[in-house]
Amino acid sequence: MDFSPFFPETFEEARERAGTWFQQVKAVWPEAQWRSKPLYPEEGLTFDWIEAVPSAARRALVLSAGLHGVEGYAGTAMLDLFIREFLSRLDPKTTALYLVPVINPWGMKHRRRTNPENVDLNRNVLDEEAFHRDLNPDYMTLAPVLHPERPVGWGDRFLFYARILRYLQREGMTGLRNIFPQGQSVFPKGMYYTGKTRQPEIQALLELLTPLMDRYERVVYLDMHTGYGAKGRLTLVFPGPDPRSPEELRERTQYPRVTKVAASDFYPIHGDLNTYLAKRARELGHPGLYAMALEVGTLGDTTLPQLRSMRALILENQLYWYGAKSERVARWVRREFLALFYPDDDLWRRRTVAQTREAYEGIVTGLLR
Ligand SMILES: [Zn+2]
Repeated sequence: MDFSPFFPETFEEARERAGTWFQQVKAVWPEAQWRSKPLYPEEGLTFDWIEAVPSAARRALVLSAGLHGVEGYAGTAMLDLFIREFLSRLDPKTTALYLVPVINPWGMKHRRRTNPENVDLNRNVLDEEAFHRDLNPDYMTLAPVLHPERPVGWGDRFLFYARILRYLQREGMTGLRNIFPQGQSVFPKGMYYTGKTRQPEIQALLELLTPLMDRYERVVYLDMHTGYGAKGRLTLVFPGPDPRSPEELRERTQYPRVTKVAASDFYPIHGDLNTYLAKRARELGHPGLYAMALEVGTLGDTTLPQLRSMRALILENQLYWYGAKSERVARWVRREFLALFYPDDDLWRRRTVAQTREAYEGIVTGLLR
């Protein structure tokens, strides 16, 4: 039986949907609780989660979406699919369930990737001492080239390519690939900003996640993302410090499209959530953590779509800080940004559902039985 999951139009619709999940979880685990911590009271935004913790549980499944705010719309559909088709496949006596509908509600509501402090929350999971260092100072050389400090105009759609070509001639593609997305603490109005302190969303998430490794033999964590990879393809992305090889992970998850983030010390990704969890598991000598991102590609992963993706990120950021010369260009920028993280495209949505279903099938069979 194929079920069409719910792709929300608005933040409020997504929240309502999460309310129905709680009823469905309670039908399987009567002891389930809806929990909540305050985040931004002035906007009525809280960090919410559902937890169902049977006393004899030996393993935990954690599902979350919206670490990158705007990605929470597709993430809602992916979670909805799990609730409808896979909840009944778990053993409610031996499996605990933790479900975070949206980690970054401010970003989701305002259709940004970041939280209100412009922090990329998947670059914010750092140890206290890392916040006192300048991470990725090379980013400053990119900043004036890639995000000029003025309102977005129509010309910027093309000037972006001119600017990036000039940069590429000087620094090469590897420079751009390594410096741009690795996370930076030197330019608070830039992209992939780590922030200077641990953000409340991450604080709340880690308070939920870190005790699980003491409590359970196996912890399976699935975090939903969109934007990177081939169009409409779902990849399971494991962190570099995960002790298993990609081949072994493919076998354990019974899913063919698995990759590991390179564990390069030379160009580390700063503050990545799953890297942090995998390192902690290693310190604890805990072999049972499987923390992965479910990443669905949107525009594509060849050079031109990659540049278009980068342009969408950069112009949206410029629009946020400096506005636009006209409402028309502002609308265009927002449309491009949504095309990158939440395509309004039936074929893409159908493929996303089919691949997510395939990934859940493999993970439930391979890791949760
Ligand atoms: Zn993401």
